[in-house]
Amino acid sequence: MRRPFIAGNWKMHKTVAEAVAFARQLKEMAPCCADRDVLVAPPFTALSAVAEVLRGTGIHAAAQNLHEAPQGAFTGEVSAAMIAEAGCDYVIIGHSERRTLFGEDDALIGRKIVAALGCGLKVIFCIGETLQEREAGLTSAVVERQVKEGLKALRIDDIRHLVIAYEPVWAIGTGKTATPGQAEEVHAFIRSLMGRLYSKDAADALAILYGGSVKPDNMAELMAQPNVDGGLIGGASLDFDSFARMVMYDKKD
Ligand code: PEP
Repeated sequence: MRRPFIAGNWKMHKTVAEAVAFARQLKEMAPCCADRDVLVAPPFTALSAVAEVLRGTGIHAAAQNLHEAPQGAFTGEVSAAMIAEAGCDYVIIGHSERRTLFGEDDALIGRKIVAALGCGLKVIFCIGETLQEREAGLTSAVVERQVKEGLKALRIDDIRHLVIAYEPVWAIGTGKTATPGQAEEVHAFIRSLMGRLYSKDAADALAILYGGSVKPDNMAELMAQPNVDGGLIGGASLDFDSFARMVMYDKKD
């Protein structure tokens, strides 16, 4: 009952012109994507233009972050309502780069998730352990804390607006991918945790994406794992042909 979900996180890459050119190519693929969720997350500057190209195609546009307040004196920030107005239906929250480079903690991430849901946005909620935490045997404890703290305010009805991305920090942008077995182990743990916190039905319906050096060559083996529903892809999503191969990971051309 879960559909494959392939998401590209462009981070601070692509001008508006470059993002629109990519979105136009993606639009051509839309008829082949009816059985899966496909999403791109451009920088704020390109959100409206990309969302406009993708409007009506079923392919989603996402923001990479938001501010938790509805408005105010927060120079350089963007609210959930602004993102929704730009034509996005998703936002990425809690990416490890936000946690480590911008000091976002579980409590702030929780407030951002509430702000996003309040404006009708769906959330891709990122969690994952550092190498040090993994080597200390703390992976499950870290992931459990991030889920419990980040989703503290959510009720069962909110979970259908949520996607979780398990992104081990040691695998992001490093070329080191978790093995399919490592990914599956943590994904299964997250699903069972969500079952305990909410309900088995909510957990069974939840898309859990893997992120961390996903590429066209390793996408299919990751997707073969029963609890891996998709990928959140950084570097390899920037090139259209590479992204298209991952979107169509299960189809021969
Ligand atoms: C990411 O930014 O979410 C990510 C997983 O990056 P990469 O695919 O480049 O490791």
